[in-house]
Amino acid sequence: MTRRRWLADEVRGDKAALTGKHAEHLSRVLRARVGQEFDVSAGGRLRRGRVVAVEGGRVEFALGEELNAPAEPQVTLLLAIYKFDRMEWALEKLTELGAARIVPILSKRTETHLAKAAAKRVERWRRIAQEATEQSRRLEPPEILAPVRLKDAVGTEALTRIVLAESEQSVSLADVVRVHPAGESLALAVGPEGGWAEDELRLFAEAGWTAASLGERILRAETAAIAAMAIVASHSS
Ligand code: SAH
Repeated sequence: MTRRRWLADEVRGDKAALTGKHAEHLSRVLRARVGQEFDVSAGGRLRRGRVVAVEGGRVEFALGEELNAPAEPQVTLLLAIYKFDRMEWALEKLTELGAARIVPILSKRTETHLAKAAAKRVERWRRIAQEATEQSRRLEPPEILAPVRLKDAVGTEALTRIVLAESEQSVSLADVVRVHPAGESLALAVGPEGGWAEDELRLFAEAGWTAASLGERILRAETAAIAAMAIVASHSS
């Protein structure tokens, strides 16, 4: 039987704890009891955890043996900010597929009112990623950075850097991924609903990114992001 996995909010030596809403969910909704065992992701390691106390918005675990956890693909996504509901759906799915880092981008065609509201959404984005991490039994949530302008993000380091562009006619994402050594770092950039502007594509090219296509159809940004992540993840595992 697969045990449910929790991400610890606090870790100290062989003890870990869930706090706040997280603890409430485990104690009230799932009726956790002292003595029950779960898998606990604690400081990047996966360990067996036995509940030793459930009280006042806090669930404490005694940590035991270390469990094997598969390596995750080192994929960073530059995600242009667009309609929050669709973007949040993408964040959840990208987390399930194993994205390591997500950089929200204030792009030229990001609507002004969204650009203004974005900084305040980061905490919510992190919560969504945290839930998807537990649901998909990942060890750690992806790192979600504060929104940045594209010019401050094109310097993102990765062995292979790919900007997805529907205007690209000859190079496919699969072509680029095929020559990328599995397990090495890779970055993907996906534009907003209106697409990347010409000068943004030039900025990527000047910084050494490769433009790649996902085929002839124009995909919505969230479809493009998820499809690209799935292609990369299938190559890395
Ligand atoms: N506004 C554009 C489409 C933008 S789609 C238009 O209607 O013509 C949003 C983003 O999804 C793009 O910036 C690109 O990063 C990605 N995308 C969508 N379809 C793609 C495809 N066929 N190939 C590569 N990237 C694609």
